Amino acid sequence: MQYIYTFKEGNKDMRRLLGGKGANLAQMTNLGLPVPSGFTISTEACNAFYKNHNQLNNETLAQLKTALDQLSQNVGKSFNSLSKPLLVSVRSGAAISMPGMMDTILNIGLNDQTVVALAKITANERFAYDSYRRLLAMYGNVVEGISEATFDTVIEDMKHQNHYQSDLDLTTNDLKQIVSEFKKVYINKLHHEFPQNPTEQLLAAINSVFESWNNHRAEVYRRENNIPSDLGTAVNVQMMVFGNAGKDSGTGVAFTRDPATGKKHLFGEYLLNAQGEDVVAGIRTPQPISTLKEAMPHLYAQFEAIAAKLEFYYRDMQDLEFTIENGKLYMLQARDGKRTPTAAVKIAVDMVYEDLISKQEALMRIKPESVQSILYPEFDEKDLANHDFVASGLPASPGAATGQIYFTAEAAKAAHDEKQQTVILVRQDTSPEDIEGMVVSEGIVTSRGGMTSHAAVVARGMGTPAIVGVNELQVDYQKRSATISGHQLHEGDWLSVDGTQGHIYIGQIKTADTVVNENLSTLLGWAKQESHLGVYANADTPADFSQALRFGADGIGLTRTEHMFFKPERLLEMRRLIIAENAEARQLPLKRLLKMQQGDFYELYKLSAGRSVTIRLLDPPLHEFLPHDEKEIRKVAKQLDVTPTYLEQRVDSLKELNPMLGHRGDRLAVTFPDIYQMQVDAIIGAALQLLDENVIIEPHIMIPLTALKSEMSWVKDLVVNRIEQLLVNKNVRLEYTVGTMMEMPRACLTADEIAEVSDFFSFGTNDLTQLTFGYSRDDVGSFMPEYIKQGILPADPFQTVDVDGVGQLMKMAVEKGRSIKPQLPIGVCGEIGGDPKSIEFFEQIDVSYVSCSPFRVPIARLAAAQASLRNNRVVSQTVSVKSVN
Ligand code: ADP
Ligand code: MG
Ligand code: MG
Repeated sequence: MQYIYTFKEGNKDMRRLLGGKGANLAQMTNLGLPVPSGFTISTEACNAFYKNHNQLNNETLAQLKTALDQLSQNVGKSFNSLSKPLLVSVRSGAAISMPGMMDTILNIGLNDQTVVALAKITANERFAYDSYRRLLAMYGNVVEGISEATFDTVIEDMKHQNHYQSDLDLTTNDLKQIVSEFKKVYINKLHHEFPQNPTEQLLAAINSVFESWNNHRAEVYRRENNIPSDLGTAVNVQMMVFGNAGKDSGTGVAFTRDPATGKKHLFGEYLLNAQGEDVVAGIRTPQPISTLKEAMPHLYAQFEAIAAKLEFYYRDMQDLEFTIENGKLYMLQARDGKRTPTAAVKIAVDMVYEDLISKQEALMRIKPESVQSILYPEFDEKDLANHDFVASGLPASPGAATGQIYFTAEAAKAAHDEKQQTVILVRQDTSPEDIEGMVVSEGIVTSRGGMTSHAAVVARGMGTPAIVGVNELQVDYQKRSATISGHQLHEGDWLSVDGTQGHIYIGQIKTADTVVNENLSTLLGWAKQESHLGVYANADTPADFSQALRFGADGIGLTRTEHMFFKPERLLEMRRLIIAENAEARQLPLKRLLKMQQGDFYELYKLSAGRSVTIRLLDPPLHEFLPHDEKEIRKVAKQLDVTPTYLEQRVDSLKELNPMLGHRGDRLAVTFPDIYQMQVDAIIGAALQLLDENVIIEPHIMIPLTALKSEMSWVKDLVVNRIEQLLVNKNVRLEYTVGTMMEMPRACLTADEIAEVSDFFSFGTNDLTQLTFGYSRDDVGSFMPEYIKQGILPADPFQTVDVDGVGQLMKMAVEKGRSIKPQLPIGVCGEIGGDPKSIEFFEQIDVSYVSCSPFRVPIARLAAAQASLRNNRVVSQTVSVKSVN
């Protein structure tokens, strides 16, 4: 069994065996780059070590001896030699990088004799003792478990006594004294001396690295990041090069592109006369890498060339570690660099233009959710650092907002309109009545509700940051105040909300602007070419739709007509309609609503410029449009010119125990056919208006809540008869389709029957999930977080499709539907339509398109492309995807 590989024997594809660091050190060696010689003890040796009761087995020990001899021969130095002492570093490195989990020890091989020898050979005593004190501290910490602070205090005291500013002020004598103090630490704490034998040092270091794989921190990190614990870590043993050898030496880290912006230039820092992690440790302030260009132009040019070579080779942005010893450059590490989402998108797009990667690879490299932060405003990082959040809730709608709080829609609107304030609406929950207050608010917070509560859905639709289900929040509407985790807040107080994280802060925090990102649009354009699924938007207003189009939506997959009734003058007519006692009294408000709706549809159709628009007929229970508390009832009664008692009676008569399961959707069509007829008139009227302008529109009309074929057939007849009558009157032809929402489990179970009378299906996953689980989507806030915490549910099924339950119903519906109509268009227009994991599933079951809120369109588009590429749908080129970073 080969347990040890020299850097010459390995390559970048051997990371499972050699760890990421080892594989890349080997690769750089084989690319001919200046890498100090060394070898890697493999992850297999690590696992053998555990099997052998945390001891290196004899085979590994024998191979280690050979490898050391070979290394000594190669570099002409050896352990304990007084003319050419060999010093090595012992560096851990697992297959998947685990930052800060494992440890590195530098300068192994130094002892009381070799330190004197090193001082003599280099004629640099200071350097020799600086290296020795580092070894004593690192070894003491990593192998012996003495706290870093114990050693740091010795140095700090020394600096303090002598009024030194920096480590560089420490003299040779100081360092010698530090060395002897450090040795005393060993005696005092451990009652034994620092081991003088280099081989003993090396073996102990290797043992500790292997043991550190199972330390608590590492285990926690692996659990959090789903890294299997049987991977093991590798250990790299590498000849030391010295960045602390003097003024023409140094150490640094650099990225081949700016990890914040993605801009193509070297980005990094270095320190002269320093070793190892001094740059990162913040002991001294490092220099920007650009200054190296002036300080050491040749070396900088060499480094630039190496950076370019590595990027070309790895085809990704690299994070590099280097050391300069007496004017000579050495490469110590290369890995794919971590980056912000903005940088990730720019780098992926740039690399396609540079011919480094294919478009498909660029698409696979971006995490769909990560583009959110490019689209939404976020808090200014510096300002945020000065604040702690006081409470958190469900992150219902992403983005950051800061503003003055109000507890009612009217107060919010007044503050916004009359005092030009930026406003945060804080409520127990919201209902359609609050819409005007929501529109003017920068952020919305509710103490109740789940991810698909009214507040959450509306906020996402508008792209307004929102947090719902904040248990630590109590709102007192009477006193116009609220308590958040014990803090008392009044109307007009400042509050800041981070809807991406679900965090609430008291006070004002600056936000950074959302910029329209050109690179992202380029990437989304490629995504569209690659994806098999269409991506549509749920949009209720021209403003929503424009937003969706800016984000590249293919059209509208869902227009919720009820959302058009929320403007004050419309709400009034809607209310007039609802309180009417008979068909005759409904005539006038219907006529007025028709005019307004037709205007809306005309505008949407016009904006659509040929893209498909699907309009859903009225869905919610009617009482949602009515006022509830006494004061409101009095006010509305006055507006409607009826007595409060009469209005109260109507409100009462419409009250339902379970409105979600009550008189809504197509059930309204059966009982109030004139409402659906009015909506059909408005839709067809708008299309005919455009026909007069030579714009051909094909209306898609969607019926909500269908459970039965007979029901769908009844409503469809109502709709179709009305349309045909309109067309006959006008003596024109118009293509149109009438389809159904699939949101009742019964509809999925009988999808073949329903397909006979439907031109298309569109899954309403909110209701379907609600009914399949029997969870009220407005009340899940009270138990869902606990279900997820306890692992009873893997995720909120209102956010990520429940593949095994709801997903199976959907699959069945697709199969049954297509068994009757093979070309049946099938969409998903619930909230889940924008969720990447769910999209992957929808792609597998052959859904034709998803539709989601405008702000999720880019995420969905990217996820759809990735799903198609993964499922091998439209791949035009081989795609290689790096699995681990
Ligand atoms: P990490 O995984 O925490 O980055 P490393 O193993 O990369 O730890 O070691 C940290 C630093 O130690 C390196 O960036 C480098 O500066 C220094 N180092 C490691 N090995 C050597 C070596 N052989 N010669 C000089 N410096 C080294
Ligand atoms: Mg490193
Ligand atoms: Mg529904």
